[in-house]
Amino acid sequence: MNPAKRRTVIAGNWKMNFTPAEATEFINTIKPMVAGKDNCDVIFCAPYVTIAAAMEAAKGSNIKIGAENVHFAPKGAYTGEVSAEMLKAIGVEVVIIGHSERRQYFGETDETVNLRTKAALEAGLRVILCLGEVKEQRLSGITNEVVAMQTKLDLAGISAEQLKNVVIAYEPVWAIGTGLTATPEQAQETCAVIRGVLADMYGADVAETVTIQYGGSMNEKNAAELLAKPDVDGGLIGGASLVPEKFTAIVDAAQ
Ligand code: PEP
Repeated sequence: MNPAKRRTVIAGNWKMNFTPAEATEFINTIKPMVAGKDNCDVIFCAPYVTIAAAMEAAKGSNIKIGAENVHFAPKGAYTGEVSAEMLKAIGVEVVIIGHSERRQYFGETDETVNLRTKAALEAGLRVILCLGEVKEQRLSGITNEVVAMQTKLDLAGISAEQLKNVVIAYEPVWAIGTGLTATPEQAQETCAVIRGVLADMYGADVAETVTIQYGGSMNEKNAAELLAKPDVDGGLIGGASLVPEKFTAIVDAAQ
């Protein structure tokens, strides 16, 4: 991480975990554990029905609660979806878009990721934009090309001004929820490739200001080494974000 140029962001992705009551208990437990640790943003992205309870519990703390997805249309016949305005209306400030589980199981494509990102930014939300290669792509040696293409397609039509509200989460799909972690060198190399693409798209000065997280089985043991890399500016954390001690240890590693 390079705190002189970029804000470090440690974000939990709760996925389909925690009822409102469980989220309240979790936030009440972790609140004092992360209090005052202000060298990074501390965010938990929650299932829609859990957001309000988590926000209530997080009031007055340094914890922000986000959503895990958002639709690109402002309203209409999209059963089961939630719009950016709806999220804004309940006080949400940040949303994950393009998570690999959305891409894998729910037909998310770079095109829909781009549409969702535009809608979220236009509504004034901050976006954690996820991208990353699958195992076969890494094994075939095309990781750099894959993440470069995703970066270009996912950010197509997004201005440098809007990019200020985008955090990119580099998440190798083979490392998510598997216990396999990219080595710090692999994470650094790929985050640097993404930053290089941002430099081509927006200029080097803008690219230097974009927070790029690593995600994929980040935990209390490997966080310090990953976060020590110059282009790794935080973490998007699944499994370890459900355990207060583990998540706090990652926040500590970012101080
Ligand atoms: C994620 O859900 O974005 C993630 C990285 O999960 P995990 O930490 O469990 O691999």
